[in-house]
Amino acid sequence: MTYDLVVIGAGPGGFDAAVAGAGYGLKVALVEKDVLGGTCVNRGCIPTKLWLGATSAIEELHNQSKMKVASGEVNVDFTALQARVQKHLVGTRKAMGMQLKKLGVDLLEGIGRLAGKGKISVENEDGTQEVDYKNLVVATGSKPIFFPGLEPDGECVLDSDMFLSMDSMPSSLIVVGAGFIGLEMAQAAHRFGAKVTVVDAMDRVAPLEDPEVSKALRSVFKRWKWDIKLEERVSGVRTVDGKAVLTLESGEQIEADKALVAVGRGPVTQGIGLEEAGIEMQFNQIQVDENLMAAKNIYAIGDANGQMQLAHAAAHQAHYVASRIAGKTDAPYESGPIPSVLYGAPEVMRVGLMQNEAFLTDMDCEVSKVQLAANPMAQAHAATQGFVKVVWSGGKVVGVTAVGHEVSRLATTSTMIVQQGWTAEDIYKTIFPHPSLDESLLMALKADRQKVEG
Ligand code: FAD
Repeated sequence: MTYDLVVIGAGPGGFDAAVAGAGYGLKVALVEKDVLGGTCVNRGCIPTKLWLGATSAIEELHNQSKMKVASGEVNVDFTALQARVQKHLVGTRKAMGMQLKKLGVDLLEGIGRLAGKGKISVENEDGTQEVDYKNLVVATGSKPIFFPGLEPDGECVLDSDMFLSMDSMPSSLIVVGAGFIGLEMAQAAHRFGAKVTVVDAMDRVAPLEDPEVSKALRSVFKRWKWDIKLEERVSGVRTVDGKAVLTLESGEQIEADKALVAVGRGPVTQGIGLEEAGIEMQFNQIQVDENLMAAKNIYAIGDANGQMQLAHAAAHQAHYVASRIAGKTDAPYESGPIPSVLYGAPEVMRVGLMQNEAFLTDMDCEVSKVQLAANPMAQAHAATQGFVKVVWSGGKVVGVTAVGHEVSRLATTSTMIVQQGWTAEDIYKTIFPHPSLDESLLMALKADRQKVEG
């Protein structure tokens, strides 16, 4: 039998491509070498949010006790939390498996490799089978990458996968890499009482964000007494006598119970016959055209094509390729604005153009901004630090950035506003509920605008 669609990888990209393809009536096979759900479900988005969700009361109590309206302590049992995470993941994978079955998608367990025109091989402990396809979607995702000297040893030096499967939370932690993954995990460790040190070679935390966001985050982390070492290069980190010992290029050494190395992720695209099939690669990222095609009838989506390392970006690409294969569209892929969120307390949310990017374009831009301090919901939660900033160009909203209490709640609204290119008049066409955090977005849209200058 020849499948209409074979998908390699069952993360948010591959799983959604298989489900969408089956929904369009295609005969679909999904190949997975590990468990359903990929990085996001098993080692990424979901376990980190279960950690942050279970510990959020600690942060809330801390804020309310500063207002002298609450006292006491919240105790979170890490062992129980890890058991809950596992139970949740097992349940999620089971539900995913049932969905595939219901849709008639064949799940082929094993390593998928390209094996000549219109064929892949699937290898598992029972042997190797060949599968014929009319269309192939490669959604093999990504894995942690390291610089020399920073390789995890699984003992005291961990990558994010190892960190999420720890039996106990360390009482001191060094985080190498002040990006999303490092900062979310550092926040969870902080809530369990760990002494946190963050090291990054860049000159600010969350270096991909608006510099004002980095500044706001840093001031919160300083209040938490994190030791933040920026513009510091690490020459090595290793386990010595049951401790993680990190050496900076300056010669300074830092010791902690564990070190988490979170310096980036790279595509899982090697050794599966992609280059042999004439597919172009750059830094292991599969190069795709405007239709997300890497070669005739072969598509690459999600982290594997390196366009955007976010689960919802992978899922969006998945729906596009499935509809293209099903003949529902022949238009090029357009993602529209892609929201991104750093979770925790504070949170960071952005979509569209940031002020620092606006400055680099030749677009004439303005910004309007409000502080969260004026927002009743931020006040109610005693978490008033942060702001919402709107970037305008040609009288239209082209970007929204926010940092502070639960600003992830603004992500979908902000995405729609950027997508629709709201003007000042559009603000009055929609009623924002009161009191709500959304009103901080409304106030930022209404605030006086300043020209973006260098
Ligand atoms: P993956 O999820 O990596 O899935 C790829 C799958 O392919 C895997 O199951 C793998 O086993 C399988 N595979 C690989 N090679 C083969 C092969 N040859 N044969 C068979 N199977 C194969 N994103 C967000 O949007 N929000 C978040 O809050 C967020 N938090 C994160 C937190 C952490 C700690 C991490 C590490 C990531 C986080 N991400 C988050 C990123 C998100 O997890 C990824 O962007 C997303 O999982 C990418 O989806 P994907 O389908 O492209 O690949």
